[in-house]
Amino acid sequence: MPDEDRQNLRETIIQIRGLLEDQRDLGIREVYPEHVPDDLPACPPGVQGLDQGGEASCRRETLEEIRAELENCRRCDLCKGRRNIVFGVGNPRAHLVFVGEAPGREEDEKGEPFVGEAGRLLDRIIFAMGMRREDVYICNVEKCRPPHNRDPLPEEIEACEPFLKRQLSAIRPQLIVSLGRFAAQCLLRDKAPMNRLRGHWREYEGTPLMPTYHPAFLLRNPASKREVWEDMKQVMKRLREHAS
Ligand code: SF4
Repeated sequence: MPDEDRQNLRETIIQIRGLLEDQRDLGIREVYPEHVPDDLPACPPGVQGLDQGGEASCRRETLEEIRAELENCRRCDLCKGRRNIVFGVGNPRAHLVFVGEAPGREEDEKGEPFVGEAGRLLDRIIFAMGMRREDVYICNVEKCRPPHNRDPLPEEIEACEPFLKRQLSAIRPQLIVSLGRFAAQCLLRDKAPMNRLRGHWREYEGTPLMPTYHPAFLLRNPASKREVWEDMKQVMKRLREHAS
């Protein structure tokens, strides 16, 4: 091996060792392999997939597999009035995931979250953040439309939220943004009003979460766009910190 390559290799090893030591000091005890063979079986929900020797025994399930399991889901009564299950769209490796409440009429018809006027406003917010809809992932807590757009009931949340958790563990985003009162209160198990929840970092399933207003609320209350932009600036700052 040429001397220059040998020197580069040595420096890389030193950098990796320093990184692992930093992680150990932070209390991180496991490092997950990036390239887990595709032919391993998908891990059951909640299973990390490393055996005692640190070898991968299973791989992360994919969004397609989770979607296939929902198929014609009848786990709660929301199945009765829906036209389509609205699973989610976007980048399966997104750094940022937006989570809303539940599909509305247009989303139910098209099978896609955040379409219509509120969806176009969300697209503009994402664009202002320097991204496109395809760069992020967008989904809802509930995958089927509640009748008359009422809030989902506790048993409906209980039936559907495990699929959101599985989506997030398949994507492993750096950050989550919850959109609107219901999504924030549901994910955070906190009944505080939106004007107290928004703008403050919280966590959902170990991932930092920023609650902000729903784009449909902004259409009715355009003055609150400024607050949403303040929240998104915090999100952009944290994404930049992750990238550096
Ligand atoms: S809301 Fe979720 S749990 Fe209920 S029927 Fe639809 S996909 Fe299934």
